[in-house]
Amino acid sequence: MLIDTHCHIHESSYPLDQQEVIDHALGMGVEKLICVGTSEQSSAEAIAFAAKHQHVYASVGVHPHDTKDGWSKIAGLAHQTNVVAVGEIGLDYFYTHSPREVQLLALEAQLDIARRLDLPVIFHVREAFDDFWPIFDNFPGLRGELHSFTDTKRHMEEALKRGLYVGVNGISTFTKDREQQEMFTHIPLDRMLLETDAPFLTPSPFRGKVNEPAFVGKVAEHHAAIRGIPVDEVAAATTANAHALFALS
Ligand SMILES: [Zn+2]
Repeated sequence: MLIDTHCHIHESSYPLDQQEVIDHALGMGVEKLICVGTSEQSSAEAIAFAAKHQHVYASVGVHPHDTKDGWSKIAGLAHQTNVVAVGEIGLDYFYTHSPREVQLLALEAQLDIARRLDLPVIFHVREAFDDFWPIFDNFPGLRGELHSFTDTKRHMEEALKRGLYVGVNGISTFTKDREQQEMFTHIPLDRMLLETDAPFLTPSPFRGKVNEPAFVGKVAEHHAAIRGIPVDEVAAATTANAHALFALS
């Protein structure tokens, strides 16, 4: 069995029939999925979607891109049932769709919510680890994952040192970047989480299609292949990790 720990199929802009997509996922051995909010509205939609669909859980948070539009509703949303995490939150200095100062304020405010509610955190960090680590270290006891991790082995080791999990998706199946490919082989299985980030980042061999949670198995197969181990071993480890971090019932 597999778990897609990060998708956005709850969004009204998701182009496929959502019930069909969930059924397809279940048919492909994906037992649970986490719908991740990226704004106040998307977080509220994730909660409503999880309430309506079995096997679906919600995470609430404002993505660094959207922090310019506010995050004050997240504290209230984080209390709702079916919410298993705060995220995706973090820093993105690659695009900087919101000013850095605003991203920093939003990150700290939302980490405070996670700490108060003792929820794990789903982080989106891009080109911003130098600012990220000191902030993370100001919140001792936080648990979480670096989602869609594609950074250096050094930052992966910084994450592992802090007890964080590392989320991998379709990027690992199609990247041509040698350093990334090498880094992926070093993620310890007992710290790895699988995700799709659907509708984005469709894994090989489905490039060009809309991504969906059913395809998370392709990510599992890739990581089994680069390690030379059975795919069941990757599935078992990553599913156990997801249960441990997100306390999925
Ligand atoms: Zn995402």
